[in-house]
Amino acid sequence: MVFPQVEAFRGGENLIRVVGHRGARGVLPENSMIGFDFSLSINVPLLEFDVVLTADDVPVITHNHRLHAPSFRGADGLFLTGEEPKVSSLTFEQIQQFDIGRLDGLSAYGQRFPDQAQLDGVRVPRLMDLLDLVSEPKYGDAYLMLELKSDPDVVHDPLHRGNFVGRVLQEVRAKGLSSRAVLHSFDWKLLEECQRQAPDMPSSYLTQFPDNADDVGEDSSKAICPDLRGRRDEIPNLVKQAGGSLWCPYYADVTAENVAYAKELGLCVAVWTVNQHEEIGRMIDLRVDAIVSDYPGRVQRHLSDLGISWRAGNQ
Ligand code: MG
Repeated sequence: MVFPQVEAFRGGENLIRVVGHRGARGVLPENSMIGFDFSLSINVPLLEFDVVLTADDVPVITHNHRLHAPSFRGADGLFLTGEEPKVSSLTFEQIQQFDIGRLDGLSAYGQRFPDQAQLDGVRVPRLMDLLDLVSEPKYGDAYLMLELKSDPDVVHDPLHRGNFVGRVLQEVRAKGLSSRAVLHSFDWKLLEECQRQAPDMPSSYLTQFPDNADDVGEDSSKAICPDLRGRRDEIPNLVKQAGGSLWCPYYADVTAENVAYAKELGLCVAVWTVNQHEEIGRMIDLRVDAIVSDYPGRVQRHLSDLGISWRAGNQ
């Protein structure tokens, strides 16, 4: 089955795609409408973002299962302290009380993104807010890498899984955007549920080897991703067998061999999260299909210098 949204992420002769990670986290607040809008406005129409359900079942765009203290400020303007509340324990309205426009420069996480603009009055968006944005006619060529974040506390609960996938699909379908989104996750069980509920939508399989260091200040994927130790060379085939259309490995895990093997199997290879110049260059050399980056402009610059396009047809 040929999915148009998979082809939107596929590279080609002189073509490597750029995907804005959480919008453009390196330069604007992550998973924010202003970040998504920015990415779209610089000719990067492929957006990666993370979806979690609130207590009142609203799919919202945020990365961690708990409000992330280094980027959430309360009504007093101060970053959260103490135990971070779970997104699933708060209603959407309660989450709206927090401002996600700045980063705490004293935190290890905040120090990772020294160039991020600092804003006030930025709120956690609903999935529906982003779907509304890309429904605007001027963004008709935007495609979504919609990551469903599985909560390790309920990862084995099939009822939760079914409801989570169902709520997300309900919104995507309500906006008529099924053909412009790929369903992306580290949780292979959840992707199985996605395929059951939405056979018309492709699955995108995230992987990370357990021996890689965790990203500082973020929920780890290792509790969710299958343990692929000892099966390194088989991964593209495992993804294919599971029904995947995209394989999204951590950039340090790819080799010329496994990229070539994945492509041979017809998978689209989108690597994450590639921010450093040297790594961007290595991914270009490996001819991955797409590069997911917190700095989409930086990837554009590499490609531009090499005369490589990131958009099919006229740019
Ligand atoms: Mg993500």
